[in-house]
Amino acid sequence: MSAADTAKDIIRIGTTAGLSKDVIDLLEKKCALLVEENTALTTKVSRLEIENRQLRTQLSNSQPPAGGFVENMGVLWKRRAKGFEPNPYCNECSHHPVMSQIGMVWVCSHRHTAPETVQPPVV
Ligand SMILES: [Zn+2]
Ligand SMILES: [Zn+2]
Repeated sequence: MSAADTAKDIIRIGTTAGLSKDVIDLLEKKCALLVEENTALTTKVSRLEIENRQLRTQLSNSQPPAGGFVENMGVLWKRRAKGFEPNPYCNECSHHPVMSQIGMVWVCSHRHTAPETVQPPVV
């Protein structure tokens, strides 16, 4: 039920209870104030909800992926104090195992491969 409907109900109850016209008029005015305030607050809440959603999206986009990995050229790279570890980590496995170089490719324990030419991101 909207605030406006509730306000109408309050007036109807007052009228049914036989309150004087003066009292009803006063109730009407007070109810109108509440309805107005409610509308303003509802508008404010939806604006803040939209803003909150946008900020959450921005925040999750700006955070590095879990585990400190950074994705580049289809594989993951683990940060070091300076730059990145030399071995890539598998992006296809959910547990992201480290990959080893075998011949011309990097291979993970589940046999996912990446070309030996993959490079960590440039810092
Ligand atoms: Zn796996
Ligand atoms: Zn894998």
